[in-house]
Amino acid sequence: MLPVVVVHGGAGYIPKERSELSISGVCSAVQAGYTILQGEGSSMDAVVEAVIQMENNPAFNAGCGSVLNIKGEVEMDALVMDGKTLGSGAVSAVRNIANPIQLARLVMDKTSHACLTAEGASQFARSMGIPEVPLESLITEYSRMRWKKNLAPDANPVECQMLGTVGAVAVDKEGNIACATSTGGMLNKMEGRVGDTPIIGSGGYADNLLGAVSTTGHGETIMKITLARLILFHMEQGQSAEAASDLGLAYMKSRLEGLGGVVTVDPQGHWAARFSSNYMAWAAAQEDTLHYGLYTGEHFTQKA
Ligand code: ASP
Repeated sequence: MLPVVVVHGGAGYIPKERSELSISGVCSAVQAGYTILQGEGSSMDAVVEAVIQMENNPAFNAGCGSVLNIKGEVEMDALVMDGKTLGSGAVSAVRNIANPIQLARLVMDKTSHACLTAEGASQFARSMGIPEVPLESLITEYSRMRWKKNLAPDANPVECQMLGTVGAVAVDKEGNIACATSTGGMLNKMEGRVGDTPIIGSGGYADNLLGAVSTTGHGETIMKITLARLILFHMEQGQSAEAASDLGLAYMKSRLEGLGGVVTVDPQGHWAARFSSNYMAWAAAQEDTLHYGLYTGEHFTQKA
């Protein structure tokens, strides 16, 4: 069954003309993660590489392509968690770096803290030799267009639902489990707003004894129910990765009318990509097979 890597490219509404970009983006990211798992790489190496690929892909709301805050700037959140040690690293409201997930991993590996924010995170990035990139290099024409549209008092709420946060979970040959999640957050958010993504238990969680989850959806809602940890709680109670994911998402919907999506793995390498939103681009690679889909019920396979 082992190893496996599963990624998502964000829950929400994806306009038809952008669906191909999302699908090809998640498929190439999962392939990159899977190549690492087939070599000597760990699940942590695999999830970080898969997320870097999507941060570098302007189709997603992470790294280049992040949504803009109310001032038209980019502030990003990211989280990694290592299921072997329960170590985690996160950055929040970080600016001017291309790959927040890399910085989150450095917070885990090189500091005694779990999360660095804003200017402190930037200072740490500098001290680690991570180059600063201009704000403009993270902004796409598309994100600027959406920002402008959503400044209008009669903004279309459907546009606001196009999210595109990215995440990955993996189990490697040794049975070690990891998760990674990265986002530009919510469209036209207040300056300094931090969502669920960098919060362990909400944006993601990994424990070798239980499994791992990476989440996407409205952050303020996800945090209220600590979605990632809630799903792992259900797995602890004997539910499968798929049933536990559905239970967590169903609770968020019934309790708070919140929609979202998750990718989940268990310690044996069973996996699930589940969502209550209309769409979530996702892909998984296991036993030389690539699985992917976008709409509810869609599941294509091809050789990985
Ligand atoms: N959860 C992210 C946030 O609230 C958004 C998303 O998943 O698209 O920042």
